[in-house]
Amino acid sequence: MLSQVVELIENKQNFAITTHIRPDGDGIGSSLGLCWLLRSLNKAAEVIAADAIPVAYRSLPGADAIRQVSEVDREYDAVFVIECSDLERPSIKGLDDQFTVNIDHHATSAHFGSINWIDSTASAVGEMIYNLCKAIGGRVTREIAECLYLALVTDTGSFHFSNTTDRTLKVASELVRVGVKPADISEAVYNSYPWSRIELMRRVLETVKRDDTGRIAWMRQTQSMKKDSNAVDGDNNGFVNIPLAAREVLAVVYTREVGPDQFRVSLRSKGDINVAKVAEKFGGGGHKNAAGCCVEGDWDTRERELVAAVAEAVDKAVIDWPLPKRFDPDLHLEA
Ligand code: 5GP
Ligand code: MN
Repeated sequence: MLSQVVELIENKQNFAITTHIRPDGDGIGSSLGLCWLLRSLNKAAEVIAADAIPVAYRSLPGADAIRQVSEVDREYDAVFVIECSDLERPSIKGLDDQFTVNIDHHATSAHFGSINWIDSTASAVGEMIYNLCKAIGGRVTREIAECLYLALVTDTGSFHFSNTTDRTLKVASELVRVGVKPADISEAVYNSYPWSRIELMRRVLETVKRDDTGRIAWMRQTQSMKKDSNAVDGDNNGFVNIPLAAREVLAVVYTREVGPDQFRVSLRSKGDINVAKVAEKFGGGGHKNAAGCCVEGDWDTRERELVAAVAEAVDKAVIDWPLPKRFDPDLHLEA
């Protein structure tokens, strides 16, 4: 819990911070924010990660100093592990020999850490790091603020997902007060991709299909689409949300081929539809409206199973906004 984290930082000197593979904005922003906080308290700290940092996050202060490692190769008093469901998620060898601090906002986290601080009411781990900064009496510097704002903005979908609370907005307001320029961060995150993103988007959207109710959409990305588009990791950020823009679409299944018969799956939903439960059935996890997993085997078969499981979740959910039970293409919905 938080008090243990505060006590650890006060009593120790030398820290590393890491996050999950294929890091997202919250993973990177929170890790760097914590790193700047520790340094402002005159502690030694560095961020280590197995993967390269996606282009969209490279303008963050400190991003260029993130050390890419495959194993723990230095002595630390403790390693902070940011938003990881288990100790395998960072894909760094030797973490199990370390004193680890598990900081996460997923209720599904295995309590793998020597210390575990889990707050599933936080919109992003970035919000938790802000609370840590306050609890330890730190000053929210410009560097900390920029990193944490990026964490918030990416994990809340620019403050429009249901995890956005009054606390999220209060924290964001404070971060802007100390100097964050929201437009600059949005420009860096959302409008700084290479053209390959557009090429890849075109190919992926070509594959989109819906079930006969119109409520579930699914789409695919092959390895050759990525190659033909000259795409890099991260170019597909947010693709999974695109079909949700249609009013009647309530859930999306987006599978990506990552190796022979190996696939990464992203699931998204609206309202009460719980896709975290679906992801868990396939060995993954996540949040109610955004979850993921990895699957292996025949693509058509796995996709059919995923769509069927999502359809079950849609049926189970109480859909309390005015939508037709079945999609009627002749029915024009006016907002
Ligand atoms: P994305 O679709 O952006 O890759 O993942 C959405 C969310 O699902 C992530 O924030 C994370 O919470 C969760 N998630 C994605 N993939 C996995 C996975 O393989 N295992 C677990 N436990 N959670 C995942
Ligand atoms: Mn997060």
